[in-house]
Amino acid sequence: MFKNFMTSKKFQSDAIKVLNFIENYLNELENFPVLSQTIPDEIKNNFPYVKPPYDGKSIEDLLEDFEKYFFRGITHWNHPGFMAYFNSTSSEAGILSEFLIAAMNLNGMLWKTSPVVTELENIVVNWLREMIGLNENFWGIIYDTASISTFHAIASAREQLNLNIRGKGIFGRNDLPKIILYCSEHAHSSIDKSAIALGIGTENVRKIKTNKKFEMIPDELLKAIENDKKSGYLPFCVVATIGTTSFASNDPIKSISEICNNFNIWLHIDAAYAGVAAILPEMKWITNGWNDAESIVINPHKWMFTPIDCSILLTKKKFVLKNAFSIVPDYLRTKEENQVNNLMDYGLQLGRRFRALKLWFVISNLGVKGIEEKIRNHIKWAKEFSEWIENHKYLKLIAPVHFSTICFQLKTNEMYTNDKINEFNLKLLDLVNSSGKIFISNTMLNNQIILRLTIGSYWQEKRHIEMAKQILNECIEKVMNN
Ligand code: PLP
Repeated sequence: MFKNFMTSKKFQSDAIKVLNFIENYLNELENFPVLSQTIPDEIKNNFPYVKPPYDGKSIEDLLEDFEKYFFRGITHWNHPGFMAYFNSTSSEAGILSEFLIAAMNLNGMLWKTSPVVTELENIVVNWLREMIGLNENFWGIIYDTASISTFHAIASAREQLNLNIRGKGIFGRNDLPKIILYCSEHAHSSIDKSAIALGIGTENVRKIKTNKKFEMIPDELLKAIENDKKSGYLPFCVVATIGTTSFASNDPIKSISEICNNFNIWLHIDAAYAGVAAILPEMKWITNGWNDAESIVINPHKWMFTPIDCSILLTKKKFVLKNAFSIVPDYLRTKEENQVNNLMDYGLQLGRRFRALKLWFVISNLGVKGIEEKIRNHIKWAKEFSEWIENHKYLKLIAPVHFSTICFQLKTNEMYTNDKINEFNLKLLDLVNSSGKIFISNTMLNNQIILRLTIGSYWQEKRHIEMAKQILNECIEKVMNN
């Protein structure tokens, strides 16, 4: 392909320096404290260059400065001890693909501004759709994050109401009904943010009660919809979650989809974290009812070893999404626009990174089998970990473990107040995280602190889970003896 293959010696030697840096980093990752030990403003205060350098610096100098001034400020997401939130890790293929993406620097705003961006996006999104087991009615697009994917889904649901919000907006109109959005009390905050951005308002987001397993109660949803209709409001969208952020619980999609169907309501499924688990044949049960949804979000940058950012929105209503956002100014008209998808028509952004390349690299390099093996191990280790908690003298399990996230709490005296319970659990959290070996996160349930440990890193091995148990035991002993 390259007839006169020439490399700039300078570029090549700089590239090797960066590659060596990355290789050493990955090899030694476990030796660094997973959670950054810096304090607010420490980086800024220690950084000596108040103004940007007028003369350029060498890549070597930049790497040196990076290590000297910035390294302390890293919380290492690729560290195998990173067990907080939901993991986001980059595999080797993911890392190297980002080199290519930057080198080509393609912008796929239009099909013609790099046909491969649009076409490969279509190919790999289809691959993922098939891997998950969804039918061909779903078309997909890559955005940066699940928050943005969900925003576009809810914007489509609003567009489907044909209220001409595109043209007339929402302010100063008395011909508009109050439109209502539904999700469970454990849905992600991105649903509220979409409600803010789309003029729905957080007061018009109904947080539907959940059962003891943190699953939305369909009867409560039905009641809320009927009440709203009686009040003259317009129920227009339900967001159900597979793998909620706090407790990794699943809303009953099948029952919810029947309700949505009866009331002609858009069903969006937030499977940002857990959706990829459906790649495993034994986890296909989580997709029960998904084909009845209008849209679904899944994040390969969470549990599919693809560097942040990469979120996929699958929708059966591609043309509603287009109606919501497409504007083609004169300077972006092309002769093939009726023949192709110009991805700028399907969202807020114009410019578009070549994210499909990293997804293609990761899926092709690991193979479906490689991805399955990793996810299967994570789920197995999480189940084992949850059994360990259930048999633990000082810990109790808080939520069922379907995926790779375990929620637990210290067993404390039943007479203790929430403040006292929280004091103990926060102490444990602090001790664990200051170990530098593992990093876990926290959430709340009924005003009590709950600890969350999530498995799901590309770089994790069973021994890291064993290490987490050991650290927890050591820290529990300190909390109990204090
Ligand atoms: N949905 C769920 C269930 C999540 O857990 C998260 C983040 O953890 C999000 C959405 C938002 O993800 P993103 O950071 O890609 O916007």
